[in-house]
Amino acid sequence: MVPVPSPLMERQSRPLALAEATHERHAWIELDLEAAYANLQALHGHTGAGVEIIAVVKANAYGHGVAGLAPALQAAGVERFAVAWLEEALLLRELGITRPIIVLSHTFPGDAGRAVERDITLTVHSIELGRALSTAAVAAGKTATVHVKVDTGLHRFGVPAEVAVALAEALRSLPGIDVEGLSTHMANADEADDGFSLVQAGRFAAVAERLPWVRYRHTANSATAIRRGGLRYEGVRLGLSLHGVLPPNTPGPALTPVLSLRARLARVAEVAPGEGVSYGLTWRADRPSRVGLVPVGYADGWRRALGNRGEVLVGGGRRPIVGRVAMDHFLVDVTDVPGAAEGTEVTLIGEQGGVRITAEDVATAAETISWDILASLGTRLPRLFHRKGTVEGIA
Ligand SMILES: *Cc1c(COP(=O)(O)O)cnc(C)c1O
Repeated sequence: MVPVPSPLMERQSRPLALAEATHERHAWIELDLEAAYANLQALHGHTGAGVEIIAVVKANAYGHGVAGLAPALQAAGVERFAVAWLEEALLLRELGITRPIIVLSHTFPGDAGRAVERDITLTVHSIELGRALSTAAVAAGKTATVHVKVDTGLHRFGVPAEVAVALAEALRSLPGIDVEGLSTHMANADEADDGFSLVQAGRFAAVAERLPWVRYRHTANSATAIRRGGLRYEGVRLGLSLHGVLPPNTPGPALTPVLSLRARLARVAEVAPGEGVSYGLTWRADRPSRVGLVPVGYADGWRRALGNRGEVLVGGGRRPIVGRVAMDHFLVDVTDVPGAAEGTEVTLIGEQGGVRITAEDVATAAETISWDILASLGTRLPRLFHRKGTVEGIA
């Protein structure tokens, strides 16, 4: 990690082992920076030389903690960053990110000045935003770098193909504006059949052909970058895969999940046969049971849907979540873990004793996707950034 003071991360002045840093914590997230580095190398190897990796670190780096992860990725050689909103881009600058940063989503013209001041690349969807950027850039004696996004079929953000060419040409004629990039985003990238990506790519290529002076094209998220070699262009926007998780239906290079979510039991209670646990008493003991209280709840992003469905690791094995998940707590059946007591470590996502629960496992149990599980992890959980078990910073 680069030695940059961060407004959000408290750096450790002496080497601190994870075990020491967590021995009296209720719940925490561990971020393995060596894994982040290895994933970057593996993905670079897969996408090939000449293709930039744009690290997508929106939504607090998919819940991982952008304060520690973004500087680490920059130090590891990531060429560019992307986020959804301007506020996230400005935070990256505060964190010491000096590489180009692309705002992927919408920006209002009133924010043009702030974007120019911090050299943020906006995705420009209207000539009004372009004019506001031009005015701000000329006033500041700078050049505003912009990208134009083509809506090739997702119908979310961007401008229709027929508008994109005219918009790019009009932006090009404004003083202080450099139209560097052209992008699009795929609708079916991680579906079993991603054939529609080729339809979208064809629409994109037709626009790109009419704008041969645009020098930086990007169309691929993780799934498309891994599956469709022909759609990588100058850069690929990697979010999930950079965090060590492959999208569904996407065999790819071996990656290591960067994030683990752990907690310590706050209490172990005896439950007699016939007694119920947690709100609504939706689970009842059918034998003399012991339940462990895990101090993580839906306020932390641990879904209420996991009640009576999900599993966590205690004592090196999978144990069932029993009863409903509450705002700050849930219960796990530790009847088969004789040593379980106050302070026993619980792994909610990650590896324990050679057994692993992945973000995909949690997503499947909660009937959602791994992006949703990771990005939902709450701000109450401290993020511990480490290399080989030595903590470098806490955010
Ligand atoms: C979030 C996002 C990405 C990253 O997607 P992953 O599947 O997580 O790699 C790429 N492009 C856009 C436009 C996005 O919004």
